[in-house]
Amino acid sequence: MAGNMSQPRATVRLDGREIAAPLRQHTAAAVAALRQRGVVPSLAVVRVGDDAASQIYVGAKLKAAAALGIVALEHHLPAADSQGAVESLVAALAGDDGIDGILVQLPLPRHLDVEGVLAQVPASKDVDGFGLHSLGALAAGAPGLRPCTPAGVMRILEHWAAERGEHLAGKRALVIGRSRIVGKPVALLLLAADCTVTIAHSRSVDLAALVAEADIVVAAAGSPRLIRGSWLRPGSVVIDVGIHRLSDGSLCGDVDTEGAQGVAGAITPVPGGVGPLTIAQLMANTVAACEARRA
Ligand code: NAP
Repeated sequence: MAGNMSQPRATVRLDGREIAAPLRQHTAAAVAALRQRGVVPSLAVVRVGDDAASQIYVGAKLKAAAALGIVALEHHLPAADSQGAVESLVAALAGDDGIDGILVQLPLPRHLDVEGVLAQVPASKDVDGFGLHSLGALAAGAPGLRPCTPAGVMRILEHWAAERGEHLAGKRALVIGRSRIVGKPVALLLLAADCTVTIAHSRSVDLAALVAEADIVVAAAGSPRLIRGSWLRPGSVVIDVGIHRLSDGSLCGDVDTEGAQGVAGAITPVPGGVGPLTIAQLMANTVAACEARRA
């Protein structure tokens, strides 16, 4: 028996496509109900320049919208367009009553001021949840549209906890990264879920020791395989937000997935973990924005 107890436990794979399925179904049903009333939810995507990754991400979003019956139109501007030209387009979309959600695909070309562009998106149409009003509402615990990747991370964690008959409350959560679009909002959402939250960043000391303390690790450092499997607390749940293309063409995350096997209790794959939830949440936000404006 003692021998059996020392066997490493199998690590559960948290499949983002499976976990996103109920959210997609819920969104599809909401779209069908709106369409029956003659309301067609619509999403405007603004892309500036020719960033290759952005083109792929936008393509995936447009495809997901079409599959759900959401009308999504891409507005593609040349990389050299001025601040005024980009802001004018976003302002026009903001004033268009037929548009429910506006997404400005980041990054923008370097000569553009992101804040100035995002400031043109009204909170009611901020389906990416990146605007100052949306982030302020999140920090204050007020209602509002939540950023898609952070909300997707929470959906995976809620699924994991529900499967185990547990709660997130009281768990020690470590968020690695403090960016505006992932780290900070994830930390705020975990706090709202009553976790005890630590945020690590590039100036943090002894990341391995912080990881070893955590029941929940959310890795969003943007550094390939930064987090070693041996650092993890046995049985912890690991959400790997990072996505990197290696020189051999394969993809990996911020976590050494192989090293985590048998140590982590559960881990998201890359790809197929957080990504599907991000897109499903964007669609859910678009429909929520439509319902709130046109209900
Ligand atoms: P980012 O803006 O580059 O932020 C990275 C954060 O990680 C920064 O706060 C940085 O600290 C911190 N960091 C960097 N090296 C570190 C280290 N060695 N130890 C601890 N912290 C460290 O990246 P992001 O936009 O948040 O994205 C993070 C990753 O998620 C990227 O790989 C991105 O591609 C991916 N992503 C995936 C999705 C998805 O849907 N799957 C969505 C968005 C992003 P400082 O603040 O001190 O610089």
